[in-house]
Amino acid sequence: MKAIVIQPRARGSMHLRDMPDPEMGRGEVAVKMVRVGLCATDVELDHGLYGEAPEGSEFLILGHENFGVVEAVGRNVKGWKAGDFVVSTVRRPCGTCGSCKAGEHDMCCSGHYTERGILRRHGFMAEYYVESPRYLHRIPRGVRDLAVLLEPMSVVEKGIDHAFLLQRRMRGWRPRLGLALGAGPIGLLAAAVMRLRGLHTVVVGREDGDDLRAQIARQLGAEFFSVANRTMADLVKEIGEPDLVMEATGSAQVVFDATTILNKNGVLCLLSVTGGDRMHPEPIDLINQRLVLGNQVVFGSVNANARHFDRGVRDMSAIEKRWPGALGRLLTNPIPWAAFRTWFDDRGHGIKATLEIA
Ligand code: BGC
Repeated sequence: MKAIVIQPRARGSMHLRDMPDPEMGRGEVAVKMVRVGLCATDVELDHGLYGEAPEGSEFLILGHENFGVVEAVGRNVKGWKAGDFVVSTVRRPCGTCGSCKAGEHDMCCSGHYTERGILRRHGFMAEYYVESPRYLHRIPRGVRDLAVLLEPMSVVEKGIDHAFLLQRRMRGWRPRLGLALGAGPIGLLAAAVMRLRGLHTVVVGREDGDDLRAQIARQLGAEFFSVANRTMADLVKEIGEPDLVMEATGSAQVVFDATTILNKNGVLCLLSVTGGDRMHPEPIDLINQRLVLGNQVVFGSVNANARHFDRGVRDMSAIEKRWPGALGRLLTNPIPWAAFRTWFDDRGHGIKATLEIA
């Protein structure tokens, strides 16, 4: 089969190549890929910043934001049939730590997990993959055209789930204002989920107020606050201090700015996986003082487990019902998969690019 691969740690090694067809075991399902979503992680893998090939292979098949159709079902598999729409989770358990044993491989504590398309396990930029049904999520027909967004959606669901779990430290926390920092796919999906949870929601972005991202935010019933010529301090003056902040700008700098606008007892969830080694001076006394005197929580969150994929499916359906068409507007750049280089060479201004495999 054809697959898009990299030679991990070698900058710009990405290419389309023939790889052996995966062999389906009796307890597995074979899935024909329809499309994959592209994100900054894929770019950093292409840049050779991280990534590892599976044992015994020189190449790693890229791709983790996936959507496909079941093609064949192993003899021992129950509950799945050819034609089912499906999204697979990304991370696989280490098999030894307490979190992985409890089904929370997103919280693996040994660090010996693998991730499809990222770490020691082939991804989804290929014509087929095989997988145990344990890691698969069925997609209802009504949201199949959005399903490629389920993986990033699961990341958002986990962040928001954990934020609310952490806030159970208080008996009377009633969040009013939710902020999505960054108007990329993660920021806009976070805004959609916060709106579903009834929060007054503001998306903060560098774009102008008439940008597509701002339009989508407003369609979801959120406000859009442009920092093109205003600051975060202006935001607090105009709208107030947020109780929940979902940071998804991809910039570590913003993390510190975000701590200075958070409300008392507020929670700040960091979702940007930043590569690089930039240094920056910060008002550390002030930041510490606000965190302590404000009883604030700042936490990082990566990946997601089955529970969050399930919630993602449920919430996507609810969002589609309440704000029809809004999520579909995130899918701005469908690219024939053989033309993948066009996006990696110039990511342009779109929101979510997808490689159309079949
Ligand atoms: C993916 C996660 C993954 C993380 C770190 C992100 O882009 O969405 O599933 O855990 O990268 O590898």
